[in-house]
Amino acid sequence: MSRVYNFSAGPAVLPEEVLREAADEMMDYRGTGMSVMEMSHRSKAYDEIIKDAEKDLRELMNIPDNYKVLFLQGGASQFFAEVPMNMMKNKKAAYIITGQWAKKAWQEAKMYGEAIDVASSADKTFSYIPDCSDLAIPEDADYVYICENNTIYGTKFWELPNTKGKDLVADVSSCFLSEPVDVSKYAVIYGGVQKNVGPAGVVIAIIREDLITDDVLPGTPTMLKWKTQADNDSLYNTPPCYGIYICGKVFKWIKKMGGLEAMKAHNEKKAKILYDFLDSSKLFKGTVEAKDRSLMNVPFVTGNEELDAKFVKEAKAAGFENLKGHRSVGGMRASIYNAMPIEGVQALVDFMKKFEEENA
Ligand SMILES: *Cc1c(COP(=O)(O)O)cnc(C)c1O
Repeated sequence: MSRVYNFSAGPAVLPEEVLREAADEMMDYRGTGMSVMEMSHRSKAYDEIIKDAEKDLRELMNIPDNYKVLFLQGGASQFFAEVPMNMMKNKKAAYIITGQWAKKAWQEAKMYGEAIDVASSADKTFSYIPDCSDLAIPEDADYVYICENNTIYGTKFWELPNTKGKDLVADVSSCFLSEPVDVSKYAVIYGGVQKNVGPAGVVIAIIREDLITDDVLPGTPTMLKWKTQADNDSLYNTPPCYGIYICGKVFKWIKKMGGLEAMKAHNEKKAKILYDFLDSSKLFKGTVEAKDRSLMNVPFVTGNEELDAKFVKEAKAAGFENLKGHRSVGGMRASIYNAMPIEGVQALVDFMKKFEEENA
């Protein structure tokens, strides 16, 4: 067996320990004589899996009792529509546009009401987070929306926007469980798990209870109404069973590693190795304003497209996979999620140093 260092932005690297455990349980999950893939979602064994997953997530994030945890399908992209469907009582919301995912969510919301872009960093290719301390948020806005970590551009909100008392909705797909969070500052936290938490196919949403009602926009499909999912403990229909099972294992792995404080320290250490090198390099440059840098997604360039392509190719041959930047940005991007070991980042930096010497 040979494993590469996988810097994919998503689906992305998972802890080897989790993969090994899943392999061990593949043919016979704890004496049931079947794989979790083959199991009824109404069975006792599965009930324990999903309840345990929720319990561990609540513990890790210190989720207050007045928030529901939902395990959903449809990807983060479907949730772009679920937010206005379930929350746009006044048909008005404020969106902060810090990249493609925020923009897509904003465009989706415009189909359901007035979605206003109250701030944007499009003027500098989303390389920074705009000042959100005093935005023109309408009195009657139903919520303020952010994408907290910008997977494509590599920026992160290190300070949440001043919402002027409005509910905050955050897409945390690419920073989920990377650091401690104060859940009570948000109305809704959600993310697709395939970046930092598990296999594609699961969306986790943490929603304040008072937002889960029958008062949704007319025409909202039953499945997309949060109340349907909450009333049925995410088992209204067949959930993405196997994906939730793997997420549960990742939660246990994070707990064993010391929880979210430990994850944050681990992630800061890794990011520092890479950013320190980028700041000292004569060839490679980070593309993001230093104060807004993400710990998870690190885009960089050489300034020469041919050299970028050469780097990606040689890196791949040396066992560093998926370093090509997003098609909309070019250059390179190293995604260094929770499960990326520090050795992987160190090895990448060593390789970059060597490439720099050879191409000086
Ligand atoms: C990947 C990503 C999405 C889209 O996720 P899907 O599950 O593919 O719909 C949305 N938001 C962010 C921040 C992402 O990184």
